[in-house]
Amino acid sequence: MNNQFKKIFGIDLGTTYSAIAYVNEYGKTAVVLNAENQRITPSVVFFDGDNITVGEIAKENAKIYPNEIVTLIKRSMGDPYFLFEYQGKNYRPEEISSYILRKLVNDARINLGLKEDITDVVITCPAYFGNNERESTRLAGEIAGLNVRQVLNEPTAAAIAYGMLENNDENVILVYDLGGGTFDITMFHAKPDIIEVICTGGDKELGGKDWDDRIIRYMVEQFEEKTGSTEDILADVDTWQNMQLAAEKAKKTLSQRQKTPIMVTSAGERVKIELTREKFAEITEDLLERTISLTHNMLEEAQQKGYNTFDKFILVGGSARMPQISDRLRKEFPTIRPKQFAPDEAITKGAAMYAWKLSLNDVLIERVKACTGYTEKDIENQNIPDEIVQSVANETGFTVEAIKHSNIAIKNVASKSFGVVARNENNQDEVVNLVLKNTRVPIEVRQKFGTHLNNQKTAKIRVMEDEVLESKINAEDAVEIGTAILKMPDNLPANSPIEIIFRLNEEGRLNITAIETTKSREVTVTIETTAVMQGDELEEAKTRAQKISVS
Ligand code: AMP
Repeated sequence: MNNQFKKIFGIDLGTTYSAIAYVNEYGKTAVVLNAENQRITPSVVFFDGDNITVGEIAKENAKIYPNEIVTLIKRSMGDPYFLFEYQGKNYRPEEISSYILRKLVNDARINLGLKEDITDVVITCPAYFGNNERESTRLAGEIAGLNVRQVLNEPTAAAIAYGMLENNDENVILVYDLGGGTFDITMFHAKPDIIEVICTGGDKELGGKDWDDRIIRYMVEQFEEKTGSTEDILADVDTWQNMQLAAEKAKKTLSQRQKTPIMVTSAGERVKIELTREKFAEITEDLLERTISLTHNMLEEAQQKGYNTFDKFILVGGSARMPQISDRLRKEFPTIRPKQFAPDEAITKGAAMYAWKLSLNDVLIERVKACTGYTEKDIENQNIPDEIVQSVANETGFTVEAIKHSNIAIKNVASKSFGVVARNENNQDEVVNLVLKNTRVPIEVRQKFGTHLNNQKTAKIRVMEDEVLESKINAEDAVEIGTAILKMPDNLPANSPIEIIFRLNEEGRLNITAIETTKSREVTVTIETTAVMQGDELEEAKTRAQKISVS
């Protein structure tokens, strides 16, 4: 393969497990093994002096060094209050996630025998992630020294994998994605040359981990019942870590068998418990029901867009392996049989296919520009001549067929509603949503607001994110994701107009411009937020990352 063709890797940065893949010279997606010869790497980070260990070894060390371990960091992405303190230094979620990314790319480079570093990647995130969480994901890549070509929604990645591998007809597909920490439910309209997201919903605090926690609770109850103990056995970090590992193991066993024994050891006492599949289903029923109700919410939204039914129902994410999930879904949707689709790898593979599509597009664009003198904008809407596709095929080693197939278009929707706080006629703050959830992206929306005061020096734009599909809502129903300050010229009267422009790109990231209309002065306003690393803090993290070795 010609080395002008840059491999872009697809990364599933998961709550509990992560993985990396690429499309090989035969046009097949290949998940790359890590240094421990595993296809998936536990998203567990162990701080060990100037070294950081990620993966299975870190997970095993959790028992011995519980205070030096970080797990489930994805749940804290975009959380301004999360800080992990180690040897007097504070680490934010972006930096901790960057170590997971480094482990994945380093191992992949070694495993594939690449001479050069892996630089360009596509990283997936739950569809449900808001602006700050997406920004944090991108920054994690940046701190790891990577060029993040796109932050791609996990269910979109799954749909790409499914669409490109299994779907040659037109179908409306429902993707039920239950991972380690998040639940996403997404409807797609897949055609041979386009995959369109119709609607998306879910919960970023609902995943396999919650099923584990229920087993832990059951273990504690059983332990107390059998020993008469009234101690809080989970207060002991060792016991708690052991129970976490035992609970996850038991859960996985119950996907294969009807019952499993679990040992609980605390303060020298050892108790054997038996957990049946039935009991497990009973103690986690409400979690499963929550996924059903979120699915119905999403289906209602899809209905408003004219989609009353769907043709295919695919289940992805490791937690979809729990048999009670497909049993329950079959009952709820008796006409469309849910089908497991590569639960652990669909997202990684879809990300890799998307990355492949991007890298082929790069080559195609360069080639078309060189041959025709077109600009990139011209090329977007042109059919690329066959001889150029052929020459790219010669250059990259891919077949013409594969290159044409890689041209599949992906259309996305906003995963949240986005708005600003404004004063209403009753002088109360309310949120005016400029972009509503599930609107097609990219999108640009403009709206005029007025200043409050005479000679107002600055206008503070409070940028809000919410789940509501209405244009005006109570401020309490939205969360502030940041503020943007617009400097005003002197001596303007109250109620002078300011135009705010929201642009959401295809990744669902928000860019804000404001126009102070008296002078038609347009300024791009940066969203200031403590939820995402910015400025010096970010630069420090990047410098620090260079001194830290990750294995
Ligand atoms: P993902 O984020 O998609 O990799 O999903 C990881 C989650 O799937 C974790 O909570 C795992 O414990 C869970 N998981 C993996 N395999 C199984 C299985 N066989 N049965 C039940 N849960 C599983």
